[in-house]
Amino acid sequence: DTKLRLKNIRKTYGETVAVDDLSLSVEAGKIKTLLGPSGCGKSTTLRSVAGLETPDSGEIYIDGELVFSDEVNVAPENRGIGMVFQSYAVWPHMTVEENVMYPLNVQKIGTKEERRERTHKLLESIGMGDHTNHLASNLSGGQQQRVAVARAMILEPEIILFDEPLSNLDAKLRRTMRAEIKNICEEFDITMLYVTHAQDEAMYLSDEIAIMNQGEIVEENDPLNIYNNP
Ligand code: ADP
Ligand code: ADP
Repeated sequence: DTKLRLKNIRKTYGETVAVDDLSLSVEAGKIKTLLGPSGCGKSTTLRSVAGLETPDSGEIYIDGELVFSDEVNVAPENRGIGMVFQSYAVWPHMTVEENVMYPLNVQKIGTKEERRERTHKLLESIGMGDHTNHLASNLSGGQQQRVAVARAMILEPEIILFDEPLSNLDAKLRRTMRAEIKNICEEFDITMLYVTHAQDEAMYLSDEIAIMNQGEIVEENDPLNIYNNP
């Protein structure tokens, strides 16, 4: 099953072609990584999928349904997508519970008690049950990332987008967190599109890697075969 499909996406900023006629699909429950150097258009691609960026042209489908084209532009909150960013991943002055519950409050889902229960259940399942009432700023970097992933998961999205989520962490935490993300993908059957410039991360995490350069995908394969066809 194809969960996410981009067709001929192009995005320019003035003279700069950030994304150049890019087509890509992600199978349901799989992790696809966009790997490439800074400035090659990874973020712009990801933000286009989220609806945070409007491409000049092209089409985006989620579950076979058109969410972006010349005529269609589904709002970000209606795309069934969760997102984890590199920076400002959690709100430091809020507790773990408040951070994770926030999207439920915004969407006014259920009663306060139901929202709290759903939040606690998710926090338990990702091993943060003992930290519910801690301030996010008192957590380690890895724990903060886990909270950021939980917040991206709370509305039960079928797709989560990651934009360099581990690049501010030290090497040890990065290894722990990438394993965490892979587990979450498998356990909750979530489709992931993951952006990184780190080759080791892409090799470890991905079902498929798309190597980007200057706004284009130059190679696409599974991690084992990605470098076999130079
Ligand atoms: P990456 O995520 O791979 O680092 P980006 O998608 O952020 O690449 O950027 C692709 C290109 O588009 C870069 O040349 C970048 O400077 C440019 N770019 C991205 N966002 C903007 C913007 N808001 N305004 C102008 N140029 C931008
Ligand atoms: P990333 O590498 O994750 O894309 P950047 O630092 O390149 O992060 O971009 C951070 C923000 O700045 C993004 O919102 C991006 O759209 C914007 N941006 C990137 N390049 C430019 C640029 N040349 N001019 C204006 N805004 C830019």
